[in-house]
Amino acid sequence: MNTDTDTDPYAESVDPRVHCDRCEAVCCRLTVVLMPDDHVPAWLIHRDASGLETLAKGEEGWCAALDLVHMRCSIYEERPGICRKYAMGGPSCRHERGKWRDAHPFPTPVVLR
Ligand code: SF4
Repeated sequence: MNTDTDTDPYAESVDPRVHCDRCEAVCCRLTVVLMPDDHVPAWLIHRDASGLETLAKGEEGWCAALDLVHMRCSIYEERPGICRKYAMGGPSCRHERGKWRDAHPFPTPVVLR
């Protein structure tokens, strides 16, 4: 039998009760380093003085590709590899959600423009 734990050594560390629907996209506030295989629109690329390319962020601190009205990725089909590998409910996800909850006990109001 081929189970998730056969192919993914970290599958058993994912908490299935955790879901993006009940999150303020806190993972989309992390720095995403772009890899050569990533193909995101040029306006989303931030290049620092050393040449390192990361996803640009908006004033509010979220990734510039995040649709702040719906809190959804606007380039989901072409999102970078790091975003694809980030496991919903995994240890890093739960850690970031915990940090955000501790710092923001009330939901963040979304600014409509
Ligand atoms: S590209 Fe999409 S999934 Fe990745 S950080 Fe930005 S909004 Fe989030």
